[in-house]
Parts: sequence; structure tokens; C-alpha cells
Amino acid sequence: MERGELPSASRALQYDLCPGSYWLEWYVRNVIKPKDIDDDDYDSTEGTFLHNVRMGFIPETELQFHQRWVIDRSKRFTEEVLFNLGLRWKNIEETLHEKRFWIHDTNTLKPVFSGRFDTLYLYNGGTMGIYEEYKMGWKGATFAPLNRQILVNVSAIYQNLRLRRITGILNQPRVFDAPVSYVVYEENTLRKGVKKAVDIHRRCMNPHAPRIPGGSQCKFCLGKRYCPEANALIDNVIQQFQPNENR
Ligand code: SF4
Repeated sequence: MERGELPSASRALQYDLCPGSYWLEWYVRNVIKPKDIDDDDYDSTEGTFLHNVRMGFIPETELQFHQRWVIDRSKRFTEEVLFNLGLRWKNIEETLHEKRFWIHDTNTLKPVFSGRFDTLYLYNGGTMGIYEEYKMGWKGATFAPLNRQILVNVSAIYQNLRLRRITGILNQPRVFDAPVSYVVYEENTLRKGVKKAVDIHRRCMNPHAPRIPGGSQCKFCLGKRYCPEANALIDNVIQQFQPNENR
């Protein structure tokens, strides 16, 4: 695995809300190894393909009819955000794709988190950036200002490139409820983002970290089929809705 055993930015919210899920997922991946393990509920092969088209690695002529609107919508969202930021394509000086950065704890200098962004546009003499996260599935991710993946990725970009301002865009063309959202981080909040990542890392690396079920964290957790806490919660909810036979 390219990122080793380091937690991934894409799971930052889950590890923040349920730090014990890191080790449960590790166990599922490395010990149980179920054949149908998947990080999302859509065809990841198609998701990867659409990502690659969106980033220009595969020509759009390869798209099938039902996929074209996904890419068109995604491109339109990017243009809308650029417009809202007062920018045009001509202002973009450099575009980077799929680069992985690590966040280091500034005290121990050890890496604590890994994040790979989809696209990063640099502008203003390379001092500011716009990072885009494409989600090609049908399930909506958390709104950009509250999205921990965006926070951890912009913090990783900040620590490595020292940009003064980074905008994070969540671009999810197949979602209809809030399909695009963005957040602008300045240097002071970027420094807080690094601290937040260090804190999540510290808590989820603890082998005694509790598992705390909840909608946001269990939604994408690879361990939910095996997790006693999540299953107890589901049992509880089901029992509440069971018809009362004595009524
Ligand atoms: S299923 Fe939910 S409670 Fe269980 S480890 Fe995963 S996120 Fe935590």
C-alpha cells in the first residue's frame, strides 16, 4: 500500500468520530480479507475510469452516453466555483493531479496522515491553490466546510507547498443534494488543520480507542459487518420499530 499503515485522509471523519474503527478496518483488511470488500457502494472500476477522464488521463471520446453528463456536470461545477472566487481558467498557472502528500507532526517530525488529492490548481504566482475532490459515486459526502477529508488534504498541501490560501472543492456530479460545495482555508486555519490531523492520528492509533457508532462514521466503514457496537445499535433501532404484540 502506497501510504503504508498511515491513516488516509479519505477516512479522516470516520477516524475522528470513531477512533476505534482504524484497527477494526486493519483487522478486516489484513486478517479476515473478505472477497467483496469495497470502500463504496458503486462500481469502483467505473469510478476510477470517470476520475481518469475528468483529470484528462483518458480522452472524453471513451465515455459512454450515460457517463457524459457526469463529466459535463463536474466540469461545470469547477467553472462555477472559479467564477465565484473571481477567477478564470487563464488565471490558473499550473495544474497537478493525483499527488500524495504526508502530514508530519511538527513536534516528532513523524508522518501522521497521508492524503492524495485529485487535482490542484495553482495561481497567484504559485502562492494560492484550489484543490478538487471528485466523488463519482451516488452517495453524497459531507459538505466541504465540514468535510474532514478536505481539511486533511488541504493541510497536507499546506504543509508541503506552503500556500497562503487553499480552496477545497467537493465535486460530486452524481449527487443531487448539494452536489458541489467548497471552503476557503487561510494560513491560520490550515495550521489548525495540521493540528487536527495530528490529534486524529494520535487517537485512532491507540489500540484501546473506543468504537463509537453513528451514521456519518459507519456509512463507509469497512468493518461494519463485523462491528459489535454498530450491530448492537442496528438491533436497538430495529427493536424500536417492531410491532408490539401486546398492544
Ligand atoms: S462500524 Fe461504526 S462503530 Fe463500528 S468501527 Fe466502524 S465506524 Fe466505528
